Amino acid sequence: MAYRYVFGPVMSGRLGRSLGLDLLGGHICSMDCVYCEVGATRNLTLERRPYVSAAAILKELAAWKAEGLDTPDAVTLGGLGEPTLNSDMAEIIAGARALFPDTVIAVLTNATLMTDPQVRRELALADAVLPSMDSLVEAEFAAINRPCPGVTPQGVAQGLLAFRQEFTGKIFLEILLAKGINDSDENLGRLKTFCQQLAPDRVDVVTMTRPGTVKGTHPVDGAVLSRWRKALGAGKARTGERGEPEAGTLDEARTIEFVQASLARRPQTVLQLAQALGASPHTVRAAVEALERTGGIVARTDRGETYYHGSGHILEA
Ligand code: SF4
Repeated sequence: MAYRYVFGPVMSGRLGRSLGLDLLGGHICSMDCVYCEVGATRNLTLERRPYVSAAAILKELAAWKAEGLDTPDAVTLGGLGEPTLNSDMAEIIAGARALFPDTVIAVLTNATLMTDPQVRRELALADAVLPSMDSLVEAEFAAINRPCPGVTPQGVAQGLLAFRQEFTGKIFLEILLAKGINDSDENLGRLKTFCQQLAPDRVDVVTMTRPGTVKGTHPVDGAVLSRWRKALGAGKARTGERGEPEAGTLDEARTIEFVQASLARRPQTVLQLAQALGASPHTVRAAVEALERTGGIVARTDRGETYYHGSGHILEA
């Protein structure tokens, strides 16, 4: 079966072997972060809608399960934007849990919608929530995350603190630093106080490893990362970006290896592979082209999308 909304599984530093669900079907987000790998946000919105229906996602997830592959450590709601924008989220979490009762159900989120008690109630159905918070300094927040009008860092922080009170699962906070944008001491001081209040189960401080949406956005250097990690009591050192699996730092040869292994399991588009491996679409395309040349994978077009699969893998129509 060709999957549109199920991708991976990938190795995630925080979740283990994680099977991803795309709840958006396109780059729909409440932010337009300068470092976003998916590119510029196509639909900048706070409007909740069933962008991809629960039925469509759960049908694919059931099909994936029926293939009888190894059960993942986590099923992670994410995708090409902000998953809490999907108004079917609660149904998707419940359906994923019914299909994988012993698997962690996780949600990656930019936390902007946590100001809404309904969104918090829905998120509380998950086992783990992985929010991001890059700056508590308003001007920095605006510069790095470029959110929908009306979204403020203070509002997002209050939403997260309210959620902490209501949620019994794990919270893994992630902070991404971009040089000269949100790496100020003022931000570090505010985030330190915030982390003391939130008491997340884990904090990760990361930086960019690849160019973002906006030219001239640069990663911070290792010394800055170390200082921040120490100050915030962050988890094990790790470079990479938002929601990044460990494969994010792969060199070319390892990318080819991972792409081949992933395509042996299931057909995927270049974008799905990039998302699954935490690599840039450009890098993945190069790997796919190299594998096509050697005959290790083949391409097939399905409903206007080009899927690649291992040469021994039969794609359903
Ligand atoms: S990095 Fe995440 S929150 Fe930021 S624009 Fe991309 S999808 Fe949205």
